[in-house]
Amino acid sequence: MQRIAIFPGSFDPITLGHVEIIQRGTAFFDKVIVGIGTNAHKKYLFTEAQRLEMLRIAFDGMPGVEVKSYGGLTVDFAKEEGARFILRGLRSSADLAYEQPTSLVNRHLASEMETVYLHSFPETQHISSTIVREVIRYNGRLEGLVPSAVAEYIINLG
Ligand code: ADP
Repeated sequence: MQRIAIFPGSFDPITLGHVEIIQRGTAFFDKVIVGIGTNAHKKYLFTEAQRLEMLRIAFDGMPGVEVKSYGGLTVDFAKEEGARFILRGLRSSADLAYEQPTSLVNRHLASEMETVYLHSFPETQHISSTIVREVIRYNGRLEGLVPSAVAEYIINLG
């Protein structure tokens, strides 16, 4: 049986922090499915199509990684994809405080689902999509925050 994990998130936009966790995840999962969950009540800087395109660019040619978007509950998306694992990254105790109830609710909804965490390395610990959006807003340097091909895509959007 294949070990499949999903890595859910907003990816508004994808950062080198996400990429690091997903890349490390491929060492112990046969497949990591990166899923863009769209919440109708949330406002995004990038459209779903743009966020998906940036994921495609970021993971182009990376073995063991697929990208998809989904609506509805993360556990339902995971089940549809045959995944028993949800992979998440932890930067800080604030991330843990947020993740803990989420993982318990997911377990309540689907008892077979395991959430697996990898802590980020110091090189990427400071990176968040929120900070990257601020950098974009004020035309700051994106190098070292997002994959270079993604930076190029963002710059070309104007
Ligand atoms: P959400 O909308 O759930 O906050 P994000 O796209 O911001 O989605 O994040 C998705 C996942 O990526 C979360 O598990 C988050 O903790 C993790 N993550 C975000 N940035 C980093 C980083 N720099 N290092 C490690 N994990 C990260």
